Amino acid sequence: MACHRFSSGNLFPPSSDFTRVTASRHLSKRQQRLPHSKVNGISMFELTVESDFSASHILEGYDGPCGRLHGHNYRVRVSIEGEKQDALGMVLDLRILKKALAEAIEPLDHRHLNDLPPFANVPPSAENLARHIFQKVREALAELEVRDARLRQVAVAESNQAWVTYRP
Ligand SMILES: [Zn+2]
Repeated sequence: MACHRFSSGNLFPPSSDFTRVTASRHLSKRQQRLPHSKVNGISMFELTVESDFSASHILEGYDGPCGRLHGHNYRVRVSIEGEKQDALGMVLDLRILKKALAEAIEPLDHRHLNDLPPFANVPPSAENLARHIFQKVREALAELEVRDARLRQVAVAESNQAWVTYRP
């Protein structure tokens, strides 16, 4: 369930670096000769953006600290994949992916996750959070009419030491 000890002193820190962006655009020479196709069935580009939010939760029935009310400074990474580049050489403008992620996590920020509709019937574990955010980012990308890039995965961390990834 990926729950980790929480230090009460850092539940809601200043979010000066709210969004960080990383992108992988490295190509082999073989891939450079094939700019619009997959290589060995694998998409050539994966683009990732990262953001964070703060929330509290209780994992009901958990025999340990996570069974009590506590909070996390969650970190979330969303990755898309694609091979088709536009005239600027981009698979997707990363601002669009950042916007989709921001829309997905805004309803979770500074909330008690157990009280929210997505977690009315499932525990607010990191696993279920990752799946929920994946679904919301997919909806946001569809509304933003993103067609050439596919949502690959969503990873959620409750601490710096461990990540949970949802990749359907
Ligand atoms: Zn927890």
